[in-house]
Amino acid sequence: MEDKGNVNELTVEIKRLRQIIEGTNIGTWEWNVQTGETRFNERWAQILGYTLDEISPINIDTWLNLAHPDDLAESERLLNEHFKGRSPFYHCEARMKHKDGRWVWVRDHGRVVTRNQDGSPEWIVGSHMDITQEKTEQIAAERLNKIASSVPGLIYEFEMDDEGKMSFPYASPGIMGIYGVTPNEAKECVDNVFSKVHRADVAFLNQTILHSAKTLEPWNAEYRVIINGHTRWVTGFARPERVKNGIRWYGLIVDSTESKKVSLQLEESQQRLEQAQTLAHLGHWEANTGTGELYWSPQIFEIFGFEPDKFAPSTKAFYDAVHPDDRGIVNASEEQAKLTGIHDVEHRIIRPDGSIRWVHEYTHVTPQGDDDTNLILIGTVQDVTEKKELELKLIEQSYTDALTQIFNRRYAMAFMQKQFSPARRRSNDNIEGTVISFDIDHFKHVNDTYGHAVGDKALMLLARNVEDILRQDDIFARMGGEEFMIILSSSKLSDGLNLAERVRKLVESIEIPTRSGFIHITVTLAVASYSKSDLSLEDFYIRLDDGLYKGKRAGRNRVVPVIDELNEFNDKSL
Ligand code: GH3
Ligand code: MG
Ligand code: MG
Repeated sequence: MEDKGNVNELTVEIKRLRQIIEGTNIGTWEWNVQTGETRFNERWAQILGYTLDEISPINIDTWLNLAHPDDLAESERLLNEHFKGRSPFYHCEARMKHKDGRWVWVRDHGRVVTRNQDGSPEWIVGSHMDITQEKTEQIAAERLNKIASSVPGLIYEFEMDDEGKMSFPYASPGIMGIYGVTPNEAKECVDNVFSKVHRADVAFLNQTILHSAKTLEPWNAEYRVIINGHTRWVTGFARPERVKNGIRWYGLIVDSTESKKVSLQLEESQQRLEQAQTLAHLGHWEANTGTGELYWSPQIFEIFGFEPDKFAPSTKAFYDAVHPDDRGIVNASEEQAKLTGIHDVEHRIIRPDGSIRWVHEYTHVTPQGDDDTNLILIGTVQDVTEKKELELKLIEQSYTDALTQIFNRRYAMAFMQKQFSPARRRSNDNIEGTVISFDIDHFKHVNDTYGHAVGDKALMLLARNVEDILRQDDIFARMGGEEFMIILSSSKLSDGLNLAERVRKLVESIEIPTRSGFIHITVTLAVASYSKSDLSLEDFYIRLDDGLYKGKRAGRNRVVPVIDELNEFNDKSL
């Protein structure tokens, strides 16, 4: 009865132990090191996706075949340590092949429970626990840590809950380089981090975070951080994700001080260049002969009157804008450039609104580039309208008499010099022309009697009236004082005499207002023709002067033909 009671108690005890083992969900194994007898429970097989039946017969090879070869050596070493009594337990983690082919991580615990008389181990019992999940997470975490500590910059997780409370659940050691705080300091309080942000950038930074939180668009910001009194630029990228109580970002922040410095410098020098170009009305273009790409600087658009948004740069647009009258010189300059490598020309362009501008184009045609297919041409276009207009005005002024607005002596002389140039006379057999030179009679008297202003008025009225009866091609110039000259190209002496007489009568009729009523003036005119045989301009002028002198002496207010006895072109009929 007593025995039976003990047996019952034992049965209950065994049952309870079984239940505990079942409850812990662990696999058990027993192995007799001496005989090789091996026992596994159902769970042992189950961890690997099998039933016990499937892996029977069970012996120590069952374990050896299923364990990862790489982990067996370590397992054996640890087992031997335990057998020798150097460790109280056998403990090891090893991978085992699951029925479906994947590796399952198993935590293996065991202990020798019986030994032979000589002390060598007999029975050893142990347990298997599936730690795959734990192990995978651990490996992933180790891997992430390794990556996080090798990349430059900070890898982090940042959270903002629905109340707006912020935290850094994770920050890699790189946070030291970005914010000058340890990962733990960041975890403790976000202010440890945010207090390092440059004051001027705090508002902007907050705004980008709130925007990303609201839209769930990736966060990206460039801002300054002050560590130990040094200002650094940092750039951050993070992807937001909605979580249970708020938003969580996974991101990276890197130090961008150097690249920012370079880009700031570039921006600055580009701005300076643009300013300088604006001031100089200078634009530049770049063409890539390989790709056909064409770049126009903002000033090019400005000069040509093209709207940057609505107009794509093209070489054709350049050519189309060239003033039709200037196409010749532009083409000539391009031909020249083929020889000299330099295209340098000033010409007019017509803008879309019809206004005309002068531009100076300069292109160094020698291609700049590192290979033959992608040649880069760079050219400049400068708006020189104001300069050109001034230049043209100066040229005009330099040929115009200020008082009468007709040509001045310089122009008349230059014109005559051209007529008398040896080259011209060589090339043209029929060269001839007639010149009328005239001088107001007793002009000193006019000035003395009515004043200098009246004299000036007389000169102006004379010029205006005479100009009116001249042809377009006639050159009318004030040679100085009250002396004038009319140059009639391709005209005979008789034509000149006729005109001179008309001028004489016209001048006589001009009414010059004075305080004491209108007065009249008269002129004495000398007319001479020049031809191929005239030896020099000087001789010709002397003949004209002689004629004038004769006219004055003969009583003024008359036309004097100057006949050169040697000159066959003189009209002898007169
Ligand atoms: P003559 O008939 O011999 O030509 O007599 P003249 O008085 O015209 O003599 P002359 O040609 O030698 O004198 C030129 C005068 O013309 C001198 C000056 O008083 C006057 N004169 C020259 N240039 C100007 C000018 O720009 N304005 C005015 N008001 N008078 C001028
Ligand atoms: Mg005179
Ligand atoms: Mg005079």
